Amino acid sequence: MPRITAIHEGTVPISSSMSNAYINFKDMDCSIVAVESDVIRDGRPVVGYGFNSNGRYSVGEILRRRVIPRLLQAPPEDLLTDDGDHIDPARAWDAMTRDEKPGGHGERPVAVGVVDMALHDLAAKLDGLPLHHWLARHHDLGEPDDDVFVYAAGGYYAPGKGIGELQDEIRHFLDLGYRVVKIKIGGEEGLAEDLRRIEAVLKVLDGAGDRLAVDANGRFDLDTALRYGQALEPYGLFWYEEPGDPLDFAQHAALAERYRGPLATGENIFSLTDARNLLRYAGMRPDRDTLQIDPVLSYGLVEYQRILRMLAQHGWSSRRCVPHGGHQFSLHIAAAFKLGGNESYPGEFQPTGGFADSAAVVDGRVALTDIPGIGFEDKAELYRVFRALHQ
Ligand code: MG
Repeated sequence: MPRITAIHEGTVPISSSMSNAYINFKDMDCSIVAVESDVIRDGRPVVGYGFNSNGRYSVGEILRRRVIPRLLQAPPEDLLTDDGDHIDPARAWDAMTRDEKPGGHGERPVAVGVVDMALHDLAAKLDGLPLHHWLARHHDLGEPDDDVFVYAAGGYYAPGKGIGELQDEIRHFLDLGYRVVKIKIGGEEGLAEDLRRIEAVLKVLDGAGDRLAVDANGRFDLDTALRYGQALEPYGLFWYEEPGDPLDFAQHAALAERYRGPLATGENIFSLTDARNLLRYAGMRPDRDTLQIDPVLSYGLVEYQRILRMLAQHGWSSRRCVPHGGHQFSLHIAAAFKLGGNESYPGEFQPTGGFADSAAVVDGRVALTDIPGIGFEDKAELYRVFRALHQ
C-alpha cells in the first residue's frame, strides 16, 4: 500500500519582458510541488512533481494552509483505489477540496491543480507507465494517440520588437516543425497596427490564414471585438481567441452570432460549472469553436474529466479541446483523452514551459516519451528545480 510521506512546495520565477494585450509577464512566477511516497526504487523514494501551468501566479498560501495539510492529514487508505494498491487522484481530490464552499473559484483551483498534476505523475510512476498509458488503462480509454497536434503560441509584444523580429520569430517556429502559429492582438497601437502584423506573418506562412491564430487575451469590449471580427474574417484565420472578458458570456454570444470564423476561449474558465455556463450562454459552436480550458488551472485532471463528460452530454467532441498552457501534463491528457491538440510556447516560461528535451515537433505534431509518469526526468532544467525541493 503506497503512502504519501511528505509534500514539498516552492515558488519559481518564470518572468519575461513580454506582454499580451492585458498583462506584462515581468513578475510572473509559478508554484511547484513534490509529493514523496514511501515506495523506494533505486535507493530513492518515488516522487511525483507538479507546477501550476504557465501564466497564472504562484498559489503558495492556499497550498501551505489548506490543500497540502488536508492531504497529509487524510487517512492513507482514503487516497487509494479500493484494492489499496494504487494512488487514486480522484479520492485525493475529495480530501484536498474538503470544507471549500462552491463557487467563487479564484486561485483555489490552481492550487488543487498543482497537486493533482503531482499525484498523477506519482500514480503513473508507481505503476511504471508513461502517464498517457496509465490514464488509458486506469480510465478504460482504449489506445492513446501516438502524437498530438501542437501550435506555437508567440507573437507577444516586447520592447524593441518590430515587424522584422516578429517575422523572424514565426520563421523560427516553422523551422522547429510547427505548422500553425499564434500571435497576440489588441495591444496599445490598435487595429491598423495589428492588421499590419497579421499581414506580415501571413507573408511568412505563404498567405495561409488557416495556419494563423490570433489572441486578444480578453481585452475587447463588444464594439471593439466586432470591429476586429469584421476586419479579421476575410483572412480565414485558424481561430480568433478570447476576444472579450472570459466571463462575459453574453458578449461572446453576440460576437459568435456575427463572426463566422472559428472562435476559441476557456483558458480562464476554472471549473465544471463555469465550463457548463460557457456552453450554455456564450454561443459556442461545436462544429468550429475550440475550448482551451487548462486542466491544471481548473482543479486538475479530476475536474477536467468531469468537464469532458459534460461536453459529451452537450454534443461536443473531445477533439474540440486544445488546452492552454503548453506543458507536458496536458500533452499526456490530449493523447489519452483524444483531444484536438495542445498549446506550445517554444522557449517561453522557462523552466516550466515546453515538453521533454528530446521531444521534436514533426509537421506540427509531437510524440510522447516512454518515461514513467509525466516525464519531467527528460526535461533537465525543470527536473533540477524539482529535485532541489526535496534534497
Ligand atoms: Mg490565450
